[in-house]
Amino acid sequence: MEAKELMEKAARFHGHICPGLAIGVLAAKYILEHGYKYSPNEELVAIVDNDNCSVDALQAILGTTFGKGNLVHQDYGKMNYYFYDRRIQKGVKMIIKKWDYRDKKLTKDEKIQFLLNSKPENIFNVYEIEYNPPGLALIEESVPCEICGELVQNSRLMTYNNSDMCIPCYKKMRG
Ligand SMILES: [Zn+2]
Ligand SMILES: [Zn+2]
Repeated sequence: MEAKELMEKAARFHGHICPGLAIGVLAAKYILEHGYKYSPNEELVAIVDNDNCSVDALQAILGTTFGKGNLVHQDYGKMNYYFYDRRIQKGVKMIIKKWDYRDKKLTKDEKIQFLLNSKPENIFNVYEIEYNPPGLALIEESVPCEICGELVQNSRLMTYNNSDMCIPCYKKMRG
């Protein structure tokens, strides 16, 4: 698919068009052109080092979504993207290059056009990486917090003063 069509698909999900979204579109375009495919389940996993607009393009175009558990956010504030595909047992890392067009005083629309007309390889350094995806999402039992009574996933329970509680209650108790 052309970058422009992918951008339209991403914008329907994201709500507006912006340079960040265009960066995500380019990452997704590279992925689709290199043997990785849209993920109805957890076949494809994206690990992202940022939570900016670009990530919405991945969710819309690649099906790597927060809700399915095949989108993992690492809060490092870096424009790095990792993808693993269980169907082809391959992994790739994409690191954004320094934006040389920033100095040229382009308008927002010009930046978007510049990005959409670029080859992903000109925007990202791309590396094949060892196939080492994170585990599949777990379906877990929930139990009531002994303090607030709200249901909480077992693995997120904290124990304090002999009570099992949710993290917000734990934080309050600890002061
Ligand atoms: Zn945006
Ligand atoms: Zn609680």
